[in-house]
Amino acid sequence: MSGAPLPWQQGFWQQWQAYRRQPSHAYLLMGEQGMGVDELAQAMARSLLCPAGGCGQCAACHQFAAGTHADFYQQTVPEGKRDIPVEAIRTLNEWVVETAHAADGHKVVWLHPVEALNEASANALLKTLEEPPPRTTFILQGAHVGQVLPTIRSRCQHLHAPRPSQAAALAWLQEQLPDYGADQLQRALMLQFGAPLAVVAWLNQGGWQRYEHWRQQMNALAQGRQDLVQVASDWAGWMDVTEPLRLLLAWSAQQLRQSPQLRWHRLQQVIVEALAALAGSANKQLMLEQVLVEFVYGKQD
Ligand SMILES: [Zn+2]
Repeated sequence: MSGAPLPWQQGFWQQWQAYRRQPSHAYLLMGEQGMGVDELAQAMARSLLCPAGGCGQCAACHQFAAGTHADFYQQTVPEGKRDIPVEAIRTLNEWVVETAHAADGHKVVWLHPVEALNEASANALLKTLEEPPPRTTFILQGAHVGQVLPTIRSRCQHLHAPRPSQAAALAWLQEQLPDYGADQLQRALMLQFGAPLAVVAWLNQGGWQRYEHWRQQMNALAQGRQDLVQVASDWAGWMDVTEPLRLLLAWSAQQLRQSPQLRWHRLQQVIVEALAALAGSANKQLMLEQVLVEFVYGKQD
């Protein structure tokens, strides 16, 4: 049996050893993105499929690692869709009633994010959860328990993926990214809202260079050396237009902690509204300008 996927999950993993021997039909695993919840869900699934609880050596574990285990089913949001359609759940329900392939016959479904179920697909899944097939375990993973239908919630055993302390997150990051200094990693962790796996992905995709560019722009704006329309137009050209806004959101959250002023609070509200609008079909340039107007001209208390 192998250990927890990440150091801050040790306590959870020990408790899981007791659960997995007599697993429930359905678990609702809640945890914020970037904290290693995906890794935890997969380790849980593997531990149910492997006769030795996730040894990493046996045929089941090798098949699981290769993504070819016949008794494991992953359901997420299909490419190009906004939610998990009811047709997908119908296919899943059919798969669930088929006989399991392995001799011990356990099947595992990993569905995420559970908030992506729409009303029809949630109801289709509910039918299976209400009459659970034998030796089948559902791992329903999400971040916002309030967005999960109460009827689904009540059918599941609830588990909370642990969040690392800042010290634990930093220690892990220093092992993963030895080329970065402790100060940089601490800053990156703040900018990624304390989520260490998000930090790794972000830094590996050139996040630090973009951050330096962003920081120069913000300094120039604050000192009146740069025009906000130009900055907005630069941001509109970023591959992910929400990234400069999320950087500003994290930065303003830190300002709020250091010197609680209403202006930072207002700036956060404007950013959150802009992010919501950009998830729809809002005009990028206009939204970004609105945020920058608040940043530059937002009044001191
Ligand atoms: Zn194994």
